[in-house]
Amino acid sequence: MEELPEISESDDLAGLVEERVDLEDGDVLCVASTVVSKAEGRKADLSAFPASERAEAIADRLESVTGDRKDPRFAQAVLEESEALLTEAPFLLAVTRFGHITVNAGIDRSNVPGADLLLLPEAPSDSAERLSEALSVPVIVTDTSGRPFRYGQRGVAVGWAGLSAARDWRGESDRDGRELGVTVQAVVDELAATANLVAGEGGGGTPAVVVRGWSFGDHAGSDDLFRREEDDIVREALQEWAFDG
Ligand code: GDP
Ligand code: MN
Ligand code: MN
Repeated sequence: MEELPEISESDDLAGLVEERVDLEDGDVLCVASTVVSKAEGRKADLSAFPASERAEAIADRLESVTGDRKDPRFAQAVLEESEALLTEAPFLLAVTRFGHITVNAGIDRSNVPGADLLLLPEAPSDSAERLSEALSVPVIVTDTSGRPFRYGQRGVAVGWAGLSAARDWRGESDRDGRELGVTVQAVVDELAATANLVAGEGGGGTPAVVVRGWSFGDHAGSDDLFRREEDDIVREALQEWAFDG
């Protein structure tokens, strides 16, 4: 695929992809949230986020814990992009307004020419829906995200349209004839991780990846991806936990 240009506000992302690749039935298009955000005008400067008292307090706390001075306006941007903060130290773990939980509400400071910050799309599944309608294939909006228990980041789906988020293997049999009772496979995350691997993280300029020849198969689908608060014991535990390092 010919390289996509640097994306700017109001660019027709679907049109730019369509000019570069002949999408086929069965393809799934994975797009980095970075370029969706740029097309949706989600670049912002720190000056747009005058710090509240709470943001100042968060920045002071982060500085005392990490030794680095954090810009309180950055903390303010995270607060404004979040429904709740699960931790304020040693980093800001935020529940975004669309339900994805990630450090700093997914606000990026890399690959953002001409601005301080790039916010995630406001509603990435709505973004995916618009792209999917324009391109007539399922679309996954991805972001690079950290994970608990392991070093290193990987791609996750933050929005999707045209396919279910997960395929449900429950009720099917393993090779031994034993019925599967638990497994619901989060296919949009698995595809997002693969696409993110191809996209890379630096200046490579590969924000769109076509998955070809993969099939959802004959399974029940589910759109449950972001855990509901009442089903999330880790979230509950974090709300009662305070960093004392
Ligand atoms: P994120 O994972 O969604 O936060 O996005 P990254 O900043 O990691 O970028 C993912 C990929 O998209 C990398 O290959 C970047 O070089 C590329 N990329 C980011 N912005 C643009 C852009 O405006 N145009 C092009 N062609 N590539 C971009
Ligand atoms: Mn990102
Ligand atoms: Mn990335």
